[in-house]
Amino acid sequence: MARDIKKIISEMTLEEKAGLCSGMDFWHTKGIDRLDIPSIMMSDGPHGLRKQDESGADLGLRKSVPATCFPTASALACSWDRKLMQKVGEALGEECNAEKVDILLGPGTNIKRSPLCGRNFEYYSEDPYLSTELAASFIQGVQSQGVGTSLKHFAANNQEHLRMVIDTIADERTLREIYFASFEGAVKKSQPWTVMCSYNRLNGEYCSEKRSLLNDILKEEWGFEGFVVSDWGAVNERAEALNAGLELEMPSSKGEGDKKIVAAVKAGKLSESVLDQAVERLLKIIFKAVDNNKKGTPYDKEKHHQLAREVAGECIVLLKNEDSILPLKKEGTFAVIGDFARNPRYQGGGSSHVNPTKMDNAYEEINKVIGGSGKILYAKGYRDDINDGIFSKKEFTSNSDLPDDNLIREAQEIAAKADTAIVFAGLPESYESEGYDRRHIRIPEGQRKLIEAVADVQKNTVVVLSNGSPIEMPWLDKVKGVLECYLGGQAGGGAIADILFGIKNPSGKLAETFPVRLNDNPSFLNFPGDNTKVEYREGVFVGYRYYDAKEVAPLFPFGYGLSYTSFEYTDIAVDKAEISDNENVQISVKVKNTGNMKGKEIVQVYVRDVESTVIRPVKELKGFEKVELAPGEEKTVVITLDKRAFAYYNTELGDWHVESGEFEILVGRSSADIILREKITVNSTVQIKKLYTRNSTLSEVMSDPNKAEMIKQEFMDTTGILTSEEGEAMAMTSMFKQMPLRALVSLRWAFTEEKLERILEKLNSE
Ligand code: BGC
Repeated sequence: MARDIKKIISEMTLEEKAGLCSGMDFWHTKGIDRLDIPSIMMSDGPHGLRKQDESGADLGLRKSVPATCFPTASALACSWDRKLMQKVGEALGEECNAEKVDILLGPGTNIKRSPLCGRNFEYYSEDPYLSTELAASFIQGVQSQGVGTSLKHFAANNQEHLRMVIDTIADERTLREIYFASFEGAVKKSQPWTVMCSYNRLNGEYCSEKRSLLNDILKEEWGFEGFVVSDWGAVNERAEALNAGLELEMPSSKGEGDKKIVAAVKAGKLSESVLDQAVERLLKIIFKAVDNNKKGTPYDKEKHHQLAREVAGECIVLLKNEDSILPLKKEGTFAVIGDFARNPRYQGGGSSHVNPTKMDNAYEEINKVIGGSGKILYAKGYRDDINDGIFSKKEFTSNSDLPDDNLIREAQEIAAKADTAIVFAGLPESYESEGYDRRHIRIPEGQRKLIEAVADVQKNTVVVLSNGSPIEMPWLDKVKGVLECYLGGQAGGGAIADILFGIKNPSGKLAETFPVRLNDNPSFLNFPGDNTKVEYREGVFVGYRYYDAKEVAPLFPFGYGLSYTSFEYTDIAVDKAEISDNENVQISVKVKNTGNMKGKEIVQVYVRDVESTVIRPVKELKGFEKVELAPGEEKTVVITLDKRAFAYYNTELGDWHVESGEFEILVGRSSADIILREKITVNSTVQIKKLYTRNSTLSEVMSDPNKAEMIKQEFMDTTGILTSEEGEAMAMTSMFKQMPLRALVSLRWAFTEEKLERILEKLNSE
């Protein structure tokens, strides 16, 4: 329905306008009846709907209405599947419609800087391109149902420790290439209705009042059309925040924020036109929500549960498969061990905690899959934990921290009697949550001991892991198979059974590096910072960018995952051998299923700048595609690369820049398994004009061949205390090349001040 929003704004009082800029309660915006402005509702997100029971107080921590709990983001990311993300988004959109929710608070696309971040299970990846691509598809899915999203938490919010006050200190290039980039593509491609600004400070300013972030980059540069909402309670000073581009304060500050806005306008500290613009952005989305109304349409709970199972199966990563122990044959005796088999660990703690419509567990699903053909023995293996609410009160402690010798002995007994042992282990819910970070990356001691004890008596041991982020695996050599299931949602148990018994071929690949030990992680020395400051000193070297450059072998690299079949890569080709940076290039590669089971492969394209004057990662992910292939089938995968694939962020230009030259296109099955390579030349269309000063070094000058010739000539002509032969020899040394031009005057080797001035003029004029 067409409305004249400007006219509506002109009819609003100052108080009404200010009022619209903060919530009515914990989840709703304010409505204004006399102007037919409705109130809309927001709810968490991201992997399921957490709509609070609306009766009673508005603290926001109460039990929510039943909803499908899909795998959490760290699992979803392992699918590397845009279409699947879209499907999940569509299903969530349907559930929002059924529950009359207008905006789903997700997805979260913060970078996994450290495996310790308590909220990593809610985030996708350590790589910005993968994160932003998946987020974009998820958003498109939700929004296709007429329901909005909130891309969160913008920006550089990569830990829970002191999250409401911590000051992230990071340089501009790192922010642009890593931390902002994980939002940028999603904003540009999918226009989320809202972006949620994070709690933390960034380089000294609260993100909620950082104009360069909210107005300049997000809106002006990236063209974001929706409104910015604060993370719940992230507003520091309301008027400053509004001025910087934060339209909606959530939850309601019970009129306090509104009063501050009114006072600032009256005092002339905040222009009313800024308020009008904010109201305009808000109204556009509020009316969009109303106009797209499919609210109240029911969804098929069973269908969504089945979808959750299918999705979980696409996300499981096969980490180890010695002697092809998997898939398991359905006959024989199986020792199913570990409390997680019956009492699954399937989601994380905090605001994303969903009340599932239904719960499957792996123990029962394995029983269903093998039917009468095999026998199952069960042992609990370690003490269970009782979840005590959406926020765990038992921060980072579990009953399974203490090994229980009786439970371990019982598990060993059944393992010894069986043909195969399947041990369910991982991280208890209290180990990873919104609100606090992990302190180490070990699984509870009681679980570690259990795995080792079982492996001691049963050579055919498979470990099935449920955890939201990486763990150490000191027991890896002792077991034959490992499945990384992350947090698989309410139907994860069925998906595990499907993969264990080969009903489905695993096709997930890791979206983050698993380090051998925590100390290997690039952020190790600077996480979670000191006092209220955390410095991102590793710069752009996050995740595989660091392990690659330092040649530190990870436990499992980024992009890694096995299959029950095998794939052969051949015939890499580029459609152009040389391009300008404003042209695209197409990379094609043939992939063939050379095994005997249908399967999916994730083809990964990395780009390497062969020679660069700036410090760059060895290679960076710039494209990927998931293909399904029947045995013997071959497909050609085509991936298009544009300027961004070759560029770094040049802080002097304030823009992305490609240094002309050769680039390598690396195609592989993981970041550590590059199979095919091709070269391409990319020429920049931007000439960077360099300004030379007295302090420019000779090598800076000489990196430009024309200038090098000129300076050499000048130097040879006028060497002072050196003969020209000595001068020529001197000119070749590193010490000489690294001297500033002024040293050629003060060291009396070549120039007078007058001559230096003239040379500088000449250098800068051409
Ligand atoms: C979280 C957000 C969430 C909001 C509303 C905050 O504490 O950081 O992710 O959407 O609460 O529950």
